[in-house]
Amino acid sequence: MHKLVIASNNPGKLHELQLTLASLSIEILTQAQLGIDEAEEPYCTFLENALVKARHVSRVSGLPALADDSGLCVAALGGAPGVLSARYAGEPKLDSRNNEKLLQAMEGMVDRRAHYYCVLVLVRHADDPQPLIAEGEWHGEIAQQMRGEGGFGYDPLFWLPQLNKMSAELSRDEKAQISHRAQALHILLQRLQIVEY
Ligand code: IMP
Repeated sequence: MHKLVIASNNPGKLHELQLTLASLSIEILTQAQLGIDEAEEPYCTFLENALVKARHVSRVSGLPALADDSGLCVAALGGAPGVLSARYAGEPKLDSRNNEKLLQAMEGMVDRRAHYYCVLVLVRHADDPQPLIAEGEWHGEIAQQMRGEGGFGYDPLFWLPQLNKMSAELSRDEKAQISHRAQALHILLQRLQIVEY
């Protein structure tokens, strides 16, 4: 595999993925560079949505494609916002509105446990019968108010008790080492080494 297209237009995700993939001797392209539109994400599982994104980009580009589908799952909300994380507060997708909505939904709640989930799907071609799949989970809590300038999405509300920091208070490099996406990437890279391309 000489080229790989990342099937995402989310700058936060792209940065984290590109940082780690830079170590591979593969040319990394993005969906935007190739002018490829975004696929619909109609499904109720992260895995199905990641598959549809990877297949779409691979079909249009004729190249291997890597998609990430991820989101925040809050225990006391039964796993919401889940696959709807990006559009929790509706359109237009705005992190600030999503965070406000989450704070309201959790008002007065004592159980603040939450985790980020990421699934990565790599297809070698659009009809690849054996996509490479890797998952990661990153556990923390939903804070009472936002803090921090880094990251994206729900990072200003994602409290990491062991680090005594919000996810938005980590440096880009720190987050790219430990996040749900980092964990999934680590597994994917191991799989890439043992799969014949
Ligand atoms: P997707 O593009 O449909 O996979 O939606 C991902 C959404 O989940 C983002 O827009 C964020 O709201 C949330 N999310 C996923 N990963 C992260 C992260 O690392 N930090 C903060 N929010 C995240």
